[in-house]
Amino acid sequence: MREENIKKTKTVCTYCGVGCSFDVWTKDRKILKVEPQIEAPANGISTCVKGKFGWDYVNSEERLTKPLIREGDAFREAEWEEALELIAGKFIEANKTYGPDSMAFISSSKCTNEESYLMQKLARGVVGTNNVDNCSRYCQTPATMGLFRTVGYGGDSGSITDIEQSELVLIVGSNTSESHPVLATRVKRSHKLKGQKLIVADLRKHEMADRSDLFIQPKPGTDLVWLSAVTKYIVDQGWEDERFLKNRVNGLDEYKKSLEPFTMDYAACVTGVKKETLIQLAEHIHQAKTTCVLWAMGVTQHMGGSDTSTAISNLLLITGNYGKPGAGSYPLRGHNNVQGASDFGSMPDRFPGYERVADDNVRSKYEKSWGVKIPSEPGLNNHEMVAGIHNGKVKMMYLKGEDMGLVDSNINYVHSAFEKLDFFVVQDIFLSKTAEFADVVLPASPSLEKEGTFTNTERRIQRLYQALEPLGESKPDWKIIMDIANRLGADWQYDHPGDIMAEAASLSPLYTGVSYERLEGYKSLQWPVAKDGVDSPLLFIDEFPFPDGKAQLFPVEWTKPLEFAEEYDLHVNNGRLLEHFHEGNMTYKSKGITSKTPEVFLEVSPELAEERELEDGTLVRLTSPYGSVKVKCLVTDRVKGKEVYLPMNDSGEGAINYLTGSHADKDTDTPAYKEISATMDIL
Ligand code: SF4
Repeated sequence: MREENIKKTKTVCTYCGVGCSFDVWTKDRKILKVEPQIEAPANGISTCVKGKFGWDYVNSEERLTKPLIREGDAFREAEWEEALELIAGKFIEANKTYGPDSMAFISSSKCTNEESYLMQKLARGVVGTNNVDNCSRYCQTPATMGLFRTVGYGGDSGSITDIEQSELVLIVGSNTSESHPVLATRVKRSHKLKGQKLIVADLRKHEMADRSDLFIQPKPGTDLVWLSAVTKYIVDQGWEDERFLKNRVNGLDEYKKSLEPFTMDYAACVTGVKKETLIQLAEHIHQAKTTCVLWAMGVTQHMGGSDTSTAISNLLLITGNYGKPGAGSYPLRGHNNVQGASDFGSMPDRFPGYERVADDNVRSKYEKSWGVKIPSEPGLNNHEMVAGIHNGKVKMMYLKGEDMGLVDSNINYVHSAFEKLDFFVVQDIFLSKTAEFADVVLPASPSLEKEGTFTNTERRIQRLYQALEPLGESKPDWKIIMDIANRLGADWQYDHPGDIMAEAASLSPLYTGVSYERLEGYKSLQWPVAKDGVDSPLLFIDEFPFPDGKAQLFPVEWTKPLEFAEEYDLHVNNGRLLEHFHEGNMTYKSKGITSKTPEVFLEVSPELAEERELEDGTLVRLTSPYGSVKVKCLVTDRVKGKEVYLPMNDSGEGAINYLTGSHADKDTDTPAYKEISATMDIL
């Protein structure tokens, strides 16, 4: 009898872009175990510690179970009817008084594809603004920009299996073993058992660096310089893939000219990496028949993040490393659904499938389908929305699933923006830092309590099934968005997320052949998906998605990293820890995780520890021009000299974004989180 209550449900992990899927066993609301399955395409048979033990949060007493409405400095519980009526009234009032562009909408990479689709449909198709964005703006938009410029699609060019079979893996600015653990395990296996070469470039000597055949530690913010110098060296030696360049690539002459400043001597001087080492790196790439480059926030979260991503893609084009198994570009997506949130149109300038808002034909397709008029001008991105609140243009914001008050940069500035909003709606599973500033807080359901799809780092769309009933009165985000839209005059009648996917597939050529039937169980599809359901594990086999089918070499220049006054003498690198996810609002509520890593720490080098008399556990304050944090030290040789490392997994006094500033990648407005320096006081 007891066994009859036990349920096994296929789901997809929410903790990183690898997109491991597995069965979760539940009894009533209790999570009994997570069981990986051999047929899971992204992970095979394993998961990491977060995927295995990071689920207790679904039963946390801190879960939101009823809508909350602000009364003075506090919130009171409310019924859904009252909360939704209040929201609809405020939307209508703001639209009448200030126009649709006074409203801003933020979707989340934690939510499903279908929910991101609906958020942008609400903004464009119901309210009439393109002011819609998602949190990939904080991480990987520069990588997407670099790939759009050069090869036409912003996603990984192949699959995780291509990374596994590559002769050479070059990892730049990614702590892969902690940020994408299962993918890292697959690289480690190929390196150890199949003789794959592994080269790592990073500030910090993490596990992948320890395991690598060649490790370089360029000065912060100089990756574009050594990447371009290595590319130039390859061209100067005549090692470029002539046939590939002649048949499949435009812009070679202009690009070669742009490489002239990037000599090996110049690169050694700027990056601090020896010329001989860079030559060795170029030789490794030349000798390998196939190269994959993996990169993450160490590349993208800089003022020149898009240009450095472009330089990576240029290097791959020069060496002919696109369109063949075991080769290509792999920007590793952080959240589980970073890829999907943008894919499904929660971007200020793109509809689902990256079709441009400014394109009259595309716009009229959506106008016809939705029966509305959509503005042709791109809207505001996250970064511009915050500035828009400060300058009085944005009056109202609806944000779901993202703790922007912790994860955006320069959060003191972001908090002061939230305080200026006329009306602020936050939809989340917990009363997040951001929700503290809201006028209405709506209780949403996490992944185990709903159905939908996520898209992982290799463009793989996978289904998740409902394992638990929504807690209390919480609801799936898609249902809440539909309720709001219908109160604003829409007539949306989606019975299931499958209906939403069917609509997206009917409108976007990238997903023409996507259907819930083709995604049943452990089945998955990698976009683009043709009408007959044939998907694309490897891109660019025959052509690139440009008018003449050829890729484009794109010249770039180096943007010097931000300089700070002399007193800010410590460079503060930042990123993930294996055990925790972002600001930690889910993983700190999971006992199995917190028992292992209860708090974050500041990594300091043995040299710095000696100079400042620091020990493990010494409490220090770091102060930047934008704010300060308090945190305990951990002395480790993972960092060197005056570079310190503060994980981003703290929502209290150690939250990294009290230190970061508002400067951003010049092409995408992704915050330059990695360009921050600080002073240190012992407390
Ligand atoms: Fe989840 Fe990523 Fe770990 Fe897989 S590797 S279990 S997707 S956190």
